[in-house]
Amino acid sequence: MSDVIVIGHKAPDTDTVCSAIVYAAIKGYKAATPGELNEETAWVLNYFKVPAPPLLQNAAGKKLVLVDHNEPAQVVDGADQAEIIEIVDHHKMNFVCNTPIYVHVEPVGSTATVLAKKYADWVKNNPTYAGLLLSAVLSDTVIFKSPTTTDEDKKVAADLAKIAGISDIQAFGIDIKKAKASIKGKPIADVIHVDFKDFDFGGKKVGIGQTELIDINECYDRAGEISSYLNELKAGKGYAMVVFIGTDIIKEGSELYFAGDAAVMEKAFGKKPEGASMWLDGVMSRKKQVAPPLEKAFTS
Ligand code: MG
Ligand code: MG
Ligand code: MG
Repeated sequence: MSDVIVIGHKAPDTDTVCSAIVYAAIKGYKAATPGELNEETAWVLNYFKVPAPPLLQNAAGKKLVLVDHNEPAQVVDGADQAEIIEIVDHHKMNFVCNTPIYVHVEPVGSTATVLAKKYADWVKNNPTYAGLLLSAVLSDTVIFKSPTTTDEDKKVAADLAKIAGISDIQAFGIDIKKAKASIKGKPIADVIHVDFKDFDFGGKKVGIGQTELIDINECYDRAGEISSYLNELKAGKGYAMVVFIGTDIIKEGSELYFAGDAAVMEKAFGKKPEGASMWLDGVMSRKKQVAPPLEKAFTS
């Protein structure tokens, strides 16, 4: 057994966890996760009867492959004292290394898509892992509704579904999303942190959380709670701005809650916030539709 560990980003999602498991299996490496699995990922692993990877919260001294991220702020703690030997990802590069390493990044909807393409022959003979990759594609592309979706994601998903024996891709996608698509009765801190990413925008620390819902009214019902938590987080953790994206996957749009300068939000999204939030039609992707305009507003 090799001592290489394949690991995804903090606040792990289905793509990062499933890609780590599958890539570790392909290469004979070990998979690990830097944080607890969310309900959606737990549902997927349970569905395919695959055990959760062990928790690794400090990677100092380890040999790592990073999947589904390369942003230093999203990497497991201790990674500055680890050896990173490879990156497989579908995000923009913001990673500097001192030695040459393997990097495989493609502008597609999920890291699972990158793996399914490159290792198609291997995946063909491993239906359980095909199922994990399919779940990751459907999760990251929000069942192909996200603007991050490419034709390659759809093609790969169709192939994976055949291998995994999933006959109705849409219905399976909704089952996956339903596992996490409610915030009812959950502590607001958990809601905001379950999918939360830190960014560095021109030297300013910005945090962006996201949740996907079947009904955005669940956010409206708790708007005051959301806003006060964001303000607390901003003040306590040295953020220039904290944003929480409540995405309605049926209406295909998002309510953006924020703590920070309203003028920056207006500059980024071309719309005046009403109080501490704004609705943006068609916005579903943090990576493609929220982080880039915010970064531009902070740096230009
Ligand atoms: Mg991810
Ligand atoms: Mg991903
Ligand atoms: Mg995501």
